[in-house]
Amino acid sequence: MEENCIFCKIIRGDFNTEFVLENDYAVVFNDINPAAPIHMLVVPKLHVESLNELDNEELLGKLMMTVREVTKKIGLNSYKTLINTGKDAGQEVFHLHIHIMGDKK
Ligand code: 5GP
Ligand code: ZN
Repeated sequence: MEENCIFCKIIRGDFNTEFVLENDYAVVFNDINPAAPIHMLVVPKLHVESLNELDNEELLGKLMMTVREVTKKIGLNSYKTLINTGKDAGQEVFHLHIHIMGDKK
């Protein structure tokens, strides 16, 4: 947990954010500023700044399986995933997250 990290605060429940899914490793919630009709973020419970800092292969696999789990849960068969890594690539929140974007089912 990082004191000043917005996603750590969301995970902690500070803003009463509704989770589309929660498992042992991650939470999934809707993006506040959606770029697609469905736009969710898969966020690991462990604070890792970006993909560059992630040295846990197993966690990465679990996060991708969480993408599968949540899309299956909401019945979304076609979707894009995106990980912005670093400021120049558009990363704004420095707590690793996977964007899931899709059209309405
Ligand atoms: P990045 O640009 O870092 O890959 O993506 C950060 C994403 O987090 C953006 O799409 C932004 O809309 C979303 N976001 C930032 N702050 C909040 C927040 O407080 N709540 C939610 N639900 N999404 C947020
Ligand atoms: Zn964090």
